[in-house]
Parts: sequence; structure tokens; C-alpha cells
Amino acid sequence: MLIKEFISETNKNKMISDLLKYYKVGSVKVKTKSMKDRAHYNVDTGTLELSTRYKTIKNRQLKEFLITIIHEIYHAMDAKRYGWKKFKEMYEYEMNYRIANDQDEYKDNKYEIEAEKFGQKNWSKWKNIFKRDGLI
Ligand SMILES: [Zn+2]
Repeated sequence: MLIKEFISETNKNKMISDLLKYYKVGSVKVKTKSMKDRAHYNVDTGTLELSTRYKTIKNRQLKEFLITIIHEIYHAMDAKRYGWKKFKEMYEYEMNYRIANDQDEYKDNKYEIEAEKFGQKNWSKWKNIFKRDGLI
């Protein structure tokens, strides 16, 4: 049996677009850029920005990659649910609230906690789906 070390660019893009469609945020744009974080959902532009470290994905990065994408998609779903301007206000309010309470603006941020939970909860289900579909 052939063990593929890398996931092809085509298959990576197919996984991302399947996820965006499934979670009904198909209008989200995706771009790769050099950045400190793994990924970022840019609420102003509706863009999922992915670190260049995910330009090619090795199999051992797959779990982290799926959690990251699903986490960012959750932010996109929130932006759709509340409207992006409103969500941006809510998010900034939450950051300020955490800072005012001597907490971390990200680690203790309820929107970050929810998004991470969502990623942790769903990644393995998607791994099985993508395996079934022959993408990984
Ligand atoms: Zn986040």
C-alpha cells in the first residue's frame, strides 16, 4: 500500500471547499499568507487567511490543519449569524472585557473557546469523510 506523505494542493483545496459548503459559509474566500498564527478569519473582508506553513500538508499535520480550518469556519459562521459588523463589535467587546478582568484576550475569549471546541469536536469526523472520499 502506498502511503502518501503529502496531501496534494488539489485535495487540500477540495477539503476546504467541502467544509465551507457544508457549514454554509461558501462565500468565504481563502488565501495563503505569511503569518505568525496558523490561520485567521478576517471578518472585514470575509477571508480565511491560512499560514504558508499549510501550503503543503504532510499527513502528520492533518489533525492540526483540520482543527484550525474548522475553528476559523466557526468564526465565519458567527459572522454570518450576527452580521459581520455586529460580530466584530461583540468580539471586540469580549476582548476588552477579558482585559479589564485581567484575563487573556484570546485564551479566555468566549468566541475563541467556542471555536476551538467546535474544531476539536468535529475534526475526526471530517478525517473519516475525507478518507472515504479518497482525499487523504
Ligand atoms: Zn479563533
